[in-house]
Amino acid sequence: MNVRDSEHMIAELNREEPYTLTEELREADLIIINTCSVREKPVSRLFSEIGIFNKHKKKSAKIGVAGCTASHLGKEIIKRAPSVDFVLGARNISKINEVVAKKHAVEIDINYDDSSYAFGEYRTNPFKAMVNISMGCDKSCTFCIVPATRGDEVSIPSELIVQEIQKSVDAGAKEVMLLGQNVNNYGKHFTSEEDACNFTQLLQKISKIDGLERIRFTSPHPLHMDDEFLQEFASNPKICKQIHVPLQSGSSSLLKEMKRGYSKEWFLDRCAKIRNLCPEATISTDIIVGFPGESDEDFEDTMDVLEQVRFEQLFSFKYSPRPHTKAAEFDNQIEKEVASERLTRLQSRHTEILDDIMDAQMDKEHMVYFDELKAEGRVSGRSDDGKLFFVHGSEELLGKIVKVKVNKTSRGALEGTVCA
Ligand code: SF4
Repeated sequence: MNVRDSEHMIAELNREEPYTLTEELREADLIIINTCSVREKPVSRLFSEIGIFNKHKKKSAKIGVAGCTASHLGKEIIKRAPSVDFVLGARNISKINEVVAKKHAVEIDINYDDSSYAFGEYRTNPFKAMVNISMGCDKSCTFCIVPATRGDEVSIPSELIVQEIQKSVDAGAKEVMLLGQNVNNYGKHFTSEEDACNFTQLLQKISKIDGLERIRFTSPHPLHMDDEFLQEFASNPKICKQIHVPLQSGSSSLLKEMKRGYSKEWFLDRCAKIRNLCPEATISTDIIVGFPGESDEDFEDTMDVLEQVRFEQLFSFKYSPRPHTKAAEFDNQIEKEVASERLTRLQSRHTEILDDIMDAQMDKEHMVYFDELKAEGRVSGRSDDGKLFFVHGSEELLGKIVKVKVNKTSRGALEGTVCA
């Protein structure tokens, strides 16, 4: 989401002035730090980064802070770091030219509606198309700061989404990544009949775009994975067979405390349905350990879900209390050492599972969409089920979907040769 937001910022800046990107800090006229606030660590790094940029930048260069931490801290950022010239919230990207032009401007209104705003065109890589389908989130998970930084959920009208994807296909992309905090809650708030469209119907509309061959999306919510959606996922050949199903915890009682709206049983049932309808699909997840009140039994429930589902990818974190969240006020916080031990156990077991999955890929063939040139004459891409591939090759492979045979496996990626 932040990568796409950064592209929108560049596109909007370019409407007023032609900027070019630089890796050289001393060359920059404008430095924007696009922030995340989901966990505590990146927020605490922000002020040291501002200090480093301020020390080494050109005297005339401006520094701006954008994204979720900008939404959450607002003018406090300028108070703590007066070298910051402007603050731009995650929901206020269309106002970027206004804030760049005004010393110490702060735009952080989380109710601001950019949902039908036509952002300028900019993509860092023409073969990788990311397209937002919704903004914000109307859930209230007790650990999560996102509703306080990105505001209520608003869906972008489907015809605008289709137009944007068409533009990216015309520019060379064969694959699109649909983005939203809760993609499969899409369309819940449309009030007119003309706009009415749920996520499954949106996928069907997007599939009709000529030249588009692959559709990915992130993140869906387990609660909204109804049978209709899972049938579409399994049967639509353009939908990549990779799905993120964020668990957070395997304990039904903790899921209740987290206000996730589903139980361990529902989660397992949805994953079983995915494996049943679509055995080739890969499932990834997010897990938080050490949520307030997490007992040994609760944690064993999480380990049990890991054993049963055998997630291909796992994004796992120790719980960190965030401002504006209910769980930060719970009085049964878990000791850091206990959470660390649990995280180590979870990640070690997942590593074993992942090694088994990746080892079994040797000599297998996959259709890979190549989208990036790498160093030493290599090109990278992803298989339909989301595995990262590297092959020796040149830019001629970019934007193409070709068959690759695996000849080397590792935990994070596969290497192979293009089949004749
Ligand atoms: S669904 Fe929950 S975890 Fe996801 S963004 Fe919304 S509040 Fe946060």
